[in-house]
Amino acid sequence: MTAASPGKRLHSATRLLHAGAPALRDGAGPVNVPVVRTSTVRFENTATQADHHHRRTAGERVASYGRHGLDTHRALEDAVVGLEGGHRAFLTPSGLSAITLVLLALLSPGDHALVADGVYAPLRRVDSTLLQRLGITVEYFSPTHDDLASRLRPNTRLLYLESPSSLLYEVLDLPALSAVARDRGVTVATDNTWSGGWFHQPLSLGANISIQAATKYISGHSDLMQGVVVVDSPALAAKLSTAYEALGLTIGADDAYLALRGLRTLPVRLAQHQRNATAVAEFLQQQPQVSRVFYPALPTDPGHALWKRDFSGASGLVSFEFRHATPAAANAFVDALRLFGIGASWGGYESLALAAQPERLREHRQWTGDAPVVRLHIGLEDPRDLIADLAQAFADAAPAL
Ligand SMILES: *Cc1c(COP(=O)(O)O)cnc(C)c1O
Repeated sequence: MTAASPGKRLHSATRLLHAGAPALRDGAGPVNVPVVRTSTVRFENTATQADHHHRRTAGERVASYGRHGLDTHRALEDAVVGLEGGHRAFLTPSGLSAITLVLLALLSPGDHALVADGVYAPLRRVDSTLLQRLGITVEYFSPTHDDLASRLRPNTRLLYLESPSSLLYEVLDLPALSAVARDRGVTVATDNTWSGGWFHQPLSLGANISIQAATKYISGHSDLMQGVVVVDSPALAAKLSTAYEALGLTIGADDAYLALRGLRTLPVRLAQHQRNATAVAEFLQQQPQVSRVFYPALPTDPGHALWKRDFSGASGLVSFEFRHATPAAANAFVDALRLFGIGASWGGYESLALAAQPERLREHRQWTGDAPVVRLHIGLEDPRDLIADLAQAFADAAPAL
């Protein structure tokens, strides 16, 4: 049996490990997909070139130019499609560009889009700087507080979600929301970065499009910027493809390789992120300075039941709210951490802490608190060291908390 031949009956971790493996030539070959760097494609003759061009125009994934990517890109696309269970994947230079691609591919002047209020915040900048200029209306709503059906308009083209939400990890009822939207012919897209695509398959729960910042868990090593979009139908693939080409999007073969390498260990890394994050979340719950811990895997989390139904695990993101601290005291707590890095982003092997900006919290309609919130990304360190670091930061910043 060759590495490239595993069939559908294999379990998903096995398929992920072998996805895109190169075929053997003359009975031997490398384990890994080669990194095929190129700016263009060479053809034997003009007829072959024309044939490639026509097949590409008809929607086939063949390259007639460097921007289309070759073997490394195809292998990563196949692996991501296998992971998310869709029809076709698009690779973009960042997670944000993946979001923008979806918005520009599906929305035209005069269209209306409903966007969940807890989405990755920079989407609002795409709206205010680009979509508004194009005459596209974006309406933010609370998917847990508002009635979706009453917000749909005749010109609503897109329902855009993220579950769990950024920062506070509000779990959405994706099947119910998708059913309402699809009933009215509205396309459903959702940001699946939190689960890495491993703990949650939105396309099997009613979404049409799943978006991920591969920058986070797919890469897993804090050394890559990348986005992926997976669509569930040839019709959506054609729409995405048109916008993708018009925007001149592509990624380098080295980056495609790094993402593919990250994917091989996604299940084992995420299992450890979950173990460590659960230990940290349980520790945080016991701290008198902490009033609330946001982590859907905790039985006390309001989204726990939905999470249990629609997810097979939880990631390394844990946020918590201080009981009394001022924003300055929350900053002092973060500054007192020694092992945690201070910074944005997450999904790498290392732990990071970030004091949430109050204006970001206020974007979440369900947020009624006024105490500061700190977001932790729990990495793959020994959780005892992470807990010890948090404990010393609580002690160090104690007078202010
Ligand atoms: C980080 C992030 C993005 C954007 O990814 P970049 O690669 O940083 O552009 C999108 N969605 C979510 C949920 C994210 O956390």
